[in-house]
Amino acid sequence: MKIMKFGGTSVGKPERMHHIAGLVTKETEPVIVVLSALSGTTNALVEIGDFISKGERSAARQAIDKLEAHYQDFISKLVSKPAQVAKAKSVIAEHFEFLNIILRISFSEALSKDILAQGELLSTKLFAIYLEEKGISHVLLPALEFMSIDVNDEPQIGSIKVKLTQLLQQNNDKKIFVTQGYICRNARGEVDNLKRGGSDYTASLVAAAIEASVCEIWTDIDGMHNNDPRMVKKTVPVEQLSFDEAAELAYFGAKILHPASIWPAQQYKIPVKLLNTMQPEAKGTLITQQADGVGVKAVAAKDNIIAIRIKSSRMLLAYGFLRKTFEVFEKYKTPVDMVTTSEVAVSLTIDNATNLKSILKELEPFGTVEVDENQTIISVVGHEIAQTSNIVKKLFESILKVPVRMVSYGGSPHNISLLVPAEYKTQILQQLNKGMFGLE
Ligand code: ASP
Ligand code: MG
Repeated sequence: MKIMKFGGTSVGKPERMHHIAGLVTKETEPVIVVLSALSGTTNALVEIGDFISKGERSAARQAIDKLEAHYQDFISKLVSKPAQVAKAKSVIAEHFEFLNIILRISFSEALSKDILAQGELLSTKLFAIYLEEKGISHVLLPALEFMSIDVNDEPQIGSIKVKLTQLLQQNNDKKIFVTQGYICRNARGEVDNLKRGGSDYTASLVAAAIEASVCEIWTDIDGMHNNDPRMVKKTVPVEQLSFDEAAELAYFGAKILHPASIWPAQQYKIPVKLLNTMQPEAKGTLITQQADGVGVKAVAAKDNIIAIRIKSSRMLLAYGFLRKTFEVFEKYKTPVDMVTTSEVAVSLTIDNATNLKSILKELEPFGTVEVDENQTIISVVGHEIAQTSNIVKKLFESILKVPVRMVSYGGSPHNISLLVPAEYKTQILQQLNKGMFGLE
């Protein structure tokens, strides 16, 4: 059994939905189709939730009406037989009535999750209705019946496995299963989600739970590219990556795969394929346990990074200084990405400024604290590149003239990260494209 996950743009237009139905029915193996919400829907639902939370009901109503009009238009081109048109209309009526009811009751955090869940519920139900119109036998598996997270918001893979296997066994004569990405139930049994972009995570968890043959992530680009196509002219898809390489890239800015979605596939040894809905014959990127040889695979950039330097002569020959420093970040639940130290100073980076003021205040007694905002982490990723001396030489030769603020080398053998002021990002990505890949 395989997993095919389609993102928002792959289902965002009626003709795209028709197209992916074609891709799914071509399969010989049974398949679980995981769908995102139609592109733009989750953003619209976030906005609706915000309006309701601020008591701006008329703005919320307008946004709900606008979204409903979009869906009415969508189904008018999705289905054409009277029975399915009627079903699609009633699905839309049901979900938008729900939003309109929420508008009238008092807002809560739990309700906002219910609002966000509507996108994936709609996309999967509408897709199932289209399959029905085409006479394609299938089963809709409600994610809320098997996908769950615990009190720490961690997926409960054991329980997902048991429940999902049961649901599949009840339908063991079927070959196509459709389910919602992103949504789940939390420890209180309420509707919740796996955070923005979480449909990839669903796909990986489902793949792990049923030990799928492959987890395919279908988007609108032909795999993970060696560099950011928005910043450099010529980029090429990377054919193969190890999970470790993919994790570094996904975390450090490659937008193609949600970083959390790596571990379930990695742990259960399920190969992941990144494929392009618009170009299904393209090879894409295959992610597996092993890397196919040494060498630089790709570079990625992560924006909005804040660098903090704490300088203190008291650090000299002292112990416990780093622990105290990191405890401040732990207290404010702020992850630290890069760290470099000298005998009298430590520099580190964070990408979450929510508690920056309080953090800085608590660091003050430790020494002189300097902050540089608006930095970018550039990560160069490839199997064992940090141990390959000519790669390191080439890397630094290709970025001469860029004021590098920090270098992280040796934390992982597969990654060298540089911190640079954001205004140098395009330049450095272009220079690396030329220097490391020979592409301009
Ligand atoms: N629809 C959700 C989002 O936009 C989940 C996803 O698409 O992965 O964040
Ligand atoms: Mg997505």
